Amino acid sequence: MLPIDSAARSRGTAANSQTARAQNRDIILRTIHRNQPVSRADLARTTGLQPSTVSSITDQLIQEGWVTPGTLGRLPRGRRPTFVALSDRHVALAIDLRPGKANLALVDINGKILTRKTVGYQTGVCLTLEEAEVILAQVAQAAQSLKTDFADRVVHGLGVSVSGRINHKTNRLIFTPNAPWSQIDLYGELQKFFHGPIEMENAATACLFSERWFGEFRDASNLLLVSISEGIGVGLLIDGRIARGHNDMAGEFGHMTLDESGPRCGCGNSGCWEVFASNRAGLRYYREMVPESTISTFQDLLDLAKAGDLPALRSIDKMMACFTRGLTMLVAGLAPEAVIVVGECTALWSRIRPLIESQLIVRSFSSHTPTVVPAVDGDGERLRGAASLVLHKVLFGQADLLPDPAGKSAQPLPQEAQI
Ligand SMILES: [Zn+2]
Repeated sequence: MLPIDSAARSRGTAANSQTARAQNRDIILRTIHRNQPVSRADLARTTGLQPSTVSSITDQLIQEGWVTPGTLGRLPRGRRPTFVALSDRHVALAIDLRPGKANLALVDINGKILTRKTVGYQTGVCLTLEEAEVILAQVAQAAQSLKTDFADRVVHGLGVSVSGRINHKTNRLIFTPNAPWSQIDLYGELQKFFHGPIEMENAATACLFSERWFGEFRDASNLLLVSISEGIGVGLLIDGRIARGHNDMAGEFGHMTLDESGPRCGCGNSGCWEVFASNRAGLRYYREMVPESTISTFQDLLDLAKAGDLPALRSIDKMMACFTRGLTMLVAGLAPEAVIVVGECTALWSRIRPLIESQLIVRSFSSHTPTVVPAVDGDGERLRGAASLVLHKVLFGQADLLPDPAGKSAQPLPQEAQI
């Protein structure tokens, strides 16, 4: 985004000074967010705005409590500058709704998880309204205790990560093959228990948002985030924007057909990618190899694999080989700079990484093979992602637009043109 004075001049119109100041404020906030702690001089250099504009808006942000003057910087000579950073008083409540449990956390504006809690519950394939109300009441009670522990913080809203796709016009879940919330108005029910703004997002897209907002990939414009759990979800950042597609359905690569003769999938088709490469598939492979086994969770399988159990290791290898088959198609079609993998299986990253990377290289037809990295903390990633949806909207007034970072596109302007 260019500073507003440049954009207005290029249209040959006088900039509305209030709009200009608001947009320059966004640019400065975004630049602080990306570069903090940062001095005012560096803010002026990075944004191309006049030092007096930067100083005035920064003072306003300090008065509003968004920014805090922090440590003194060091220079070879001259006065030591005061660095500014976003104030960690600002937080969001995050809830990651998963089958069988809800993870909750308070996350501050710098991505730090201040406190977290888990609420477990029994779910069938599909919850009734009464069952959902009981669960959400428990979740709301847990959320209240988190907030009470950090009463000095400003909670800006609730971010919810959930498997399935969401129509962002109606806030209704429209595709939930692995989640039990399909028959209820989840957003409407959440409104009964939580006051204030609520942002709800597909789990993979929430994780992608977290990577772009808090993570190592703040400068990336093309990212693929693949979440492996009960199913496979994909979040897409294409040319700097979250890709949502028609009816917000983009990213359901877990349901592309790998083998029509394969097992039945929750979506109604057979042989989808996720029936071969999800956690459930890993468990199925193990039970096929060891029919007498009584293990019931993917964590059990991981524990066996970590202990060197051969059938467990082979099951994980088979699952990841199928995962890589699908991933190579996505990489060929979407050309991401990097692929981020979220899921419990990343606990065995040293084993699965060579398998993924070697196949990507073998099947690549271009000189670029994307970096493939695991999310450090998958549960935390979903929570930080849910929180970042709220905080992004509060800071920048828009739900999911991720424009080029100011530092990339802002151009220095003639001093007299600046506001
Ligand atoms: Zn399917």
